Amino acid sequence: MILVFLGPPGAGKGTQAQRVANKYVLAHISTGDMLRKEVREGTELGQKARAIMDAGELVSDEIILAMVKNRLSEPDCKNGALFDGFPRTHAQAEALSAFANVDLAVNIDVPSHRIVERMSQRRFCPACGCTTRVKEIISGACPKCGKPVIQRDDDKEATVLNRLEVYEAQTKPLIEFYERAGKLLTVDGDRDVGAVFESVVHALDGLA
Ligand code: AMP
Repeated sequence: MILVFLGPPGAGKGTQAQRVANKYVLAHISTGDMLRKEVREGTELGQKARAIMDAGELVSDEIILAMVKNRLSEPDCKNGALFDGFPRTHAQAEALSAFANVDLAVNIDVPSHRIVERMSQRRFCPACGCTTRVKEIISGACPKCGKPVIQRDDDKEATVLNRLEVYEAQTKPLIEFYERAGKLLTVDGDRDVGAVFESVVHALDGLA
């Protein structure tokens, strides 16, 4: 099974994607996480991507597609994969359909005024890579590993606004792309994590 998770930045895609991937034993492929790892490790790709990511712009289709194709050849993708944050452009979606058969695109729908609010509440743990909300953090420590959390540069307000603009212009049209292909499921993402997850599971169980 190949799934794609769509939705604006900060819609909760990552959290849902992780849970759904665990339940259906799919490889969770987050291009954002892969790029952040490259940045942390200071690779050539990471050095190229860093400024682009900090500005909230998109890394080139060429780099992303090479990364994704490579990743799909790894053994944990045998049972299928769930893409989180990919595709983000029409060219990426076209390329993906040439090398994989997408079963369903799940669109996590959250209105943009709620996104800015949510993203300003997000904190990131550079040590274990998890994302938490401010209200779950005590004394600046990651609830999972205890190391200090930070606000990602790309979660700061000016960047968030730019990421939303980029999303509207480049990624939102993919909703129509998958709708036309008869592969779109839209869920209301402005609810608690468990309720959103249940809606997704309900639709996926219907597919099987
Ligand atoms: P994310 O964690 O998915 O929001 O990704 C963080 C940043 O990585 C984005 O703002 C982009 O700069 C870059 N990025 C992640 N995935 C892609 C993609 N599929 N295409 C282009 N850039 C991407």
